[in-house]
Amino acid sequence: MDKVLKHLSSGRLLRFVTSALILAIVGMQSFALWRSYQETWRDGERYTANTISVLAGAIERDFLLVEASLSGLAEALREPTLMALPPALRQRVLFRRAGDANDFGVMLVLDADGNVVFDDAEDDLSAINFADRDYFRVQKDNPRAGVYVSRPFVSRIASSERAIGISQRLNAPDGSFAGVVVASVRLVYFRQLFERVKLPPGGIIRLTRTDGTVVLRYPSTDGRGNVGDSVAPDHPPITAADGWWVQTSRLDGERRYLRTAYVQGFPLTVTVGLSARRQFAGWYLRAAITLALTLTVSLLLALTVSALASSLRRSREMEGQLERMAITDSLTGLPNRRALDLTLDVEVRRSRRERRELAVLMIDIDHFKRVNDTHGHAVGDAVLAEIAHRIQRAACRPGDFVCRYGGEEFVVILPETPSQGAELVAERIRASVAAIAVVTHGVAVEITVSVGIAVARAEDQPGDMVARSDTALYTAKRAGRNRVARLETFAA
Ligand code: GH3
Ligand code: MG
Ligand code: MG
Repeated sequence: MDKVLKHLSSGRLLRFVTSALILAIVGMQSFALWRSYQETWRDGERYTANTISVLAGAIERDFLLVEASLSGLAEALREPTLMALPPALRQRVLFRRAGDANDFGVMLVLDADGNVVFDDAEDDLSAINFADRDYFRVQKDNPRAGVYVSRPFVSRIASSERAIGISQRLNAPDGSFAGVVVASVRLVYFRQLFERVKLPPGGIIRLTRTDGTVVLRYPSTDGRGNVGDSVAPDHPPITAADGWWVQTSRLDGERRYLRTAYVQGFPLTVTVGLSARRQFAGWYLRAAITLALTLTVSLLLALTVSALASSLRRSREMEGQLERMAITDSLTGLPNRRALDLTLDVEVRRSRRERRELAVLMIDIDHFKRVNDTHGHAVGDAVLAEIAHRIQRAACRPGDFVCRYGGEEFVVILPETPSQGAELVAERIRASVAAIAVVTHGVAVEITVSVGIAVARAEDQPGDMVARSDTALYTAKRAGRNRVARLETFAA
């Protein structure tokens, strides 16, 4: 756990973990948004597909009824005994409508000049000519026009009702043009059909001829169904019955997802469109809220983590400082006795393992009590610090370790140093202290040190070396102070 904390506070790992977390959050939110975008898109697709198949199916079925009625009419006209029938019966034979096709409009039989021969209208149409209608002219000019669906027109029969005409050509026995049969379908029929669809806001339904002429648009932009408007330039080719596309309306400027289907067998298309803006309005709101929340959460996370990291770092720095303080002597700045214990333990084991020499010096200031007694403790302290400094300078090889052992005693560890070398260093220390008086607080203090040397033996424990150097030190003291003593020398 400690290791993990240490790693975390090291910054890089913490930054990595935080970034990964933020990435995960952003990733999850993006995925959810993407899914809901697709769902919204699919909803629109499903809605338009269902609506269009219902509408196109209904229109197709009714047009087939009209077409069947027209064929019946044409067939009855070919009956030789037709004119012999009493007028009422003849009327019934001619205008036998298939199904409920009656509701759509009137049926007419026009002669080669466009005059009415027969009709099922309630009014008298004998004075009206229809030669100018496209359903008449197309059939007259083209023997192979087949079933023709006309452009929308204003009815000359019912008071200005708008309708389209579905016509078939009549041929004389010699194949020449003999007139047309035509059935009108009032546009109100389509309007009623479209009105039954529950369109979402901004949605449209449009019945269009394949040449781009609008038969009826619901809702309309002109209040009259946009009848006769052209949408040809923005009418894409219908390649797949199932596809939908995006287009900005020329009529109202709204961007829409559109789906178009043919009315099978007739040159008509039904188009259902959903407003792109409104279809995705809810989604955009959701995306904005999600984005704002994700940003906030990520920011808070980053801030919290960086605060945590810096507090961890601070506490680690403090720990380090405390650790250093625990092994440092505040007066001389040297490592203290605790540090000596740690270092000596390591050095003794290493010298044993690597079979290298190791020497320990114990240094004690001579008659130090007198310094205190004569000049006071402040001077005593300053002298201690200066001597610590001189010892440190004298034992200056990398690996040499100088510490304050206690009171006015110091210990020096000299790794990889044989006894002659240790004697050399000890002598250097002694001489550096004895040579120059310590000047402090306006007094010059003449001072000396005694040094005891212990050299490592194979069976030595760390404590043994200190004890032997101490013994050597007291040998030096007894021998008169200001000198260096090696235990063996004196023990021998
Ligand atoms: P010798 O070692 O030569 O036998 O005589 P000494 O006077 O140095 O011996 P002793 O051990 O009796 O006295 C050590 C003195 O060191 C006692 C104390 O007054 C002084 N001393 C120990 N620590 C400090 C310190 O931190 N500051 C000061 N000013 N004096 C200290
Ligand atoms: Mg002393
Ligand atoms: Mg002492």
